[in-house]
Amino acid sequence: MKAIRGATTVAQDSAEEIKKCVKELLLEIKQRNSLVDEQIICIMFSNTSDLHSYYPAKAAREAGFISCALYSSLEPEIDGALNNCIRVMLLTETDDTPKHVYLNGAVNLRRDITKKLNIAIDGPAGSGKSSISKILAKKFGILYLDTGAMYRACALACVLGGIDCANGELVDKLLSGTEISVKYEEGKQKTLLNNVDVSDNIRTPEISMLASTVSAHECVRKKMVDLQRKIACENSCVLDGRDIGTNVLPSAEYKFFLTASPEVRALRRANENKDKGYVQNFDEVLKEIILRDEQDKTRKIAPLIKAADAIEVDTGDMSIDDVVNYIMMKIQGKI
Ligand code: C5P
Repeated sequence: MKAIRGATTVAQDSAEEIKKCVKELLLEIKQRNSLVDEQIICIMFSNTSDLHSYYPAKAAREAGFISCALYSSLEPEIDGALNNCIRVMLLTETDDTPKHVYLNGAVNLRRDITKKLNIAIDGPAGSGKSSISKILAKKFGILYLDTGAMYRACALACVLGGIDCANGELVDKLLSGTEISVKYEEGKQKTLLNNVDVSDNIRTPEISMLASTVSAHECVRKKMVDLQRKIACENSCVLDGRDIGTNVLPSAEYKFFLTASPEVRALRRANENKDKGYVQNFDEVLKEIILRDEQDKTRKIAPLIKAADAIEVDTGDMSIDDVVNYIMMKIQGKI
């Protein structure tokens, strides 16, 4: 006998919505676990105390689950608990490893027993990726992986080694003896080049351009993408980059593509650079942004492009909080 767990959230407390979501959850559990009705011994539901309109067990019976025992109960009110949530446990006659199913706003409830949560945030320089990804990661309590930092570390390795970033052969040779890695200190990513923390050294405007040049080589992308996939497979994380949704994690559950006009992005970048002590006038930054966009979009391997199933967000007229709220609502299935 095996126990299968699951949960979902409903958009509102109505009989129709509860019936729809219970049916969807049970059919998904049945399908993912290849169950036939006779294998289901009993189904036990609990729901949060904000749901009054319908018994989940009754909804299950009406959805055709009539050959097993059904039971509903009410959960206590717990501060900070997910709203409008229906949880379920099925006892089944099967020897297979259970595949637990968490849908809608409940997707992130039990990452310990389900697949890792990976959120892909792609877009050009200055579109707001890193500020937004950091906040999202904090809200979900998961890692933030800045993949651009890895390409920047490759560029810095070339500068320190006196290698031309455009020369693929030399870059390949250099990288075969170079270790690029990341570690987390108090939730903050540190980017390491041969075990030395280079997180600050890679933030110069010069390295931004060189990272774009070096990232076009296949040898560089292979090494970095392997590392990114390994981290994403072992950890729930928000990854920001240019090719996360198209290439690194094409099956990520959530994909967003942030955009803004080159002028808006250049202004943001010029202000950021000023705060870091790099004085560049607006026109210079704009020129660099346009050049980097062009390089990133036109390279042969994994160019900067929106994945067909990514949600595009024009951040030009939105505050960081607005973008974060919009993405959170999308992820939690509220809009
Ligand atoms: O995001 P950031 O500005 O730090 O990225 C630096 C450069 O690294 C980008 O211009 C792009 O060429 C490259 N990059 C990439 N793929 C990623 C992330 C960054 O090619 N996933």
